[in-house]
Amino acid sequence: MQFRDLKSQYAALKTQMDAAIEQVLVSSDYIAGDQIEELEQKLAEYVGVKHCISCGNGTDALVLALKAWGVGPGDAVFVPDHTFFSSAESVAFAGATPVFADVLEDTFNLDPVSLERVIQAVQAEGKLMPRAIVAVDLYGLPADYDRIREIADRYHLYILEDSAQGFGSTYHGKPAGSFGDIATTSFFPAKPLGCYGDGGAVFTDNTEWASKIRSMRVHGKGSDKYDNVRIGMNSRLDTIQAAVLLVKLKAFKEYELKDINRVAAKYTERLEDCVKVPRIPAGYTSSWASYNILFRDEEERNQVRAYLKENGVPTMIYYPKGLHQQAVFSGCHLYGESLSVTTDICRRTLAIPVSPYLSGEDQEKIIHLIREKTGANA
Ligand SMILES: *Cc1c(COP(=O)(O)O)cnc(C)c1O
Repeated sequence: MQFRDLKSQYAALKTQMDAAIEQVLVSSDYIAGDQIEELEQKLAEYVGVKHCISCGNGTDALVLALKAWGVGPGDAVFVPDHTFFSSAESVAFAGATPVFADVLEDTFNLDPVSLERVIQAVQAEGKLMPRAIVAVDLYGLPADYDRIREIADRYHLYILEDSAQGFGSTYHGKPAGSFGDIATTSFFPAKPLGCYGDGGAVFTDNTEWASKIRSMRVHGKGSDKYDNVRIGMNSRLDTIQAAVLLVKLKAFKEYELKDINRVAAKYTERLEDCVKVPRIPAGYTSSWASYNILFRDEEERNQVRAYLKENGVPTMIYYPKGLHQQAVFSGCHLYGESLSVTTDICRRTLAIPVSPYLSGEDQEKIIHLIREKTGANA
């Protein structure tokens, strides 16, 4: 059993996929082929924003967004403590200081109360300039954008929506990628929409930022790449990856998103009496980048994890520690936050296999093993 079943996905798409890849090989337009623009247009349309700029990966996408705003040394950017490293790494890489806020146990997403407290603490200290909030759509669920937007407006901060895991989800009927002043996503293979390697994209309605980002992704180009008007990077999406994504986007829209929601709903129905299942609040849909359950304590989590492993079921721990506990951020200023929800989640959480291609038989097996080991009547 695969943790995220990419083999079955390829088997299902093989005919179209092989043809799409071959077309790129035959054209030899490996960089900036026609598929890039076609993909950017389709993604912008799907997300409902004016501009989509594809790039090398989801981490570069975050750096490009921060750079477009001129975020750098002396600036504070607020980041949830419970997320993948990139959400804060990009901030530090741009030269700014990530300041961590706690998350909510129910949704794993940014806690607006903790967020506002740290913003006020940074303001009160008066050393750093608050500039932006990285709001992460973690595990496929959009953050609480009503409340985060209210806070961003109150303190004049940009919202950078890190939707590496949220592509395909919605809030109030609006797609993820449309909530931030700038939003980013990742096409790493295991993300909701993944390619066959690294890839990413930036979304925004702002034409000035979009053109800066288009320039920065190709060495700060001006009229062409040998006319360099700013310092940039080399962060393009390969044409082959765009061709792969065009095939996958069609399947994603036509049935994958529906199928993964059916798989997740079945887990929720069958597991909610024995573990804490992820809650999708009213008004939201999830794209299920992962399905994370919470156990009573670390011991129970580790026992169930070992039992699943013995029986051939792969699992992951997303994430084993809070960002403030990472060696590189150790000793960072916590501004009075305990970040205790994050550290508690890290001890009790377990991600179980989820994908549009998870077979009914494999899912029954996973459910049965978890019920058995937690003492629920299997
Ligand atoms: C995967 C991920 C990223 C980074 O994407 P890459 O394409 O791997 O660079 C950033 N933020 C979050 C929340 C992610 O899950």
